[in-house]
Amino acid sequence: MNDIILNLQSIKDRISTACKNSGRQESEVSLLLATKTVPPDRIKIALKAGSTLIAENKIQELKEKFDALLDSPHTNHFIGHLQTNKIKELLRYDVSCLQSLDRFDLAEKLHQRLHANNKTLDVLIQVNTSGEESKFGVQPDEAIALVEKVARLESLKIKGLMTIGLFSAEPEHVRPCFRLLKNIQQKVRELNLPNVAMNELSMGMSGDLETAIEEGATIIRVGTAIFGKRSYPDSYYWNEQNPETT
Ligand SMILES: *Cc1c(COP(=O)(O)O)cnc(C)c1O
Repeated sequence: MNDIILNLQSIKDRISTACKNSGRQESEVSLLLATKTVPPDRIKIALKAGSTLIAENKIQELKEKFDALLDSPHTNHFIGHLQTNKIKELLRYDVSCLQSLDRFDLAEKLHQRLHANNKTLDVLIQVNTSGEESKFGVQPDEAIALVEKVARLESLKIKGLMTIGLFSAEPEHVRPCFRLLKNIQQKVRELNLPNVAMNELSMGMSGDLETAIEEGATIIRVGTAIFGKRSYPDSYYWNEQNPETT
């Protein structure tokens, strides 16, 4: 059988076990396929096998794969660092949720364009819970203020929070990152802000999805464990210093 189908099955088993261990329903956890560097043919195998939610990190890749994926029904999220000059393209290529909203100037510009076109966009606020400089996201102590400001932009619909945890093979080192995100979610909920839903927690990847599910993840983002190793290091996508990161 195809490697992708087998890998999907094993991810579903892992999700199922993690849900059982933490007393959660499997229906509470969505599997998002992180498809950076993966060619459309391989993405299509996963979509045919029943996956529905995929996400790119770069507008360039979103664009390149768009036509090839048109006949395979799916939902697109965006999980990469977005430059303001790429907003137009993000909206053109049918992205339904920007998971990586991490600064107000980006929110304002998105709002302007959406408002002019009478559209709305779901967003998650990305928080840098690991303290690593190479990771994008608003600082934890600035997250609530950002949520409050973005909430006033009526074309942006805040659905929750996203984080990339500490890069570590040791789950207990990543767990505090996920707890912190959950903690911020609870604080925001207590504020009862208009135009803010806090149902989604997008956290957990190939190596730490069990920990994330135990800590309340509603979306886990999995790449390597389904599609295999990538030839680019993740720093290519995650590092602010890289001028080509878009
Ligand atoms: C690549 C990526 C993932 C998936 O990581 P894997 O370790 O390959 O599962 C998740 N989230 C973001 C933001 C990514 O860039």
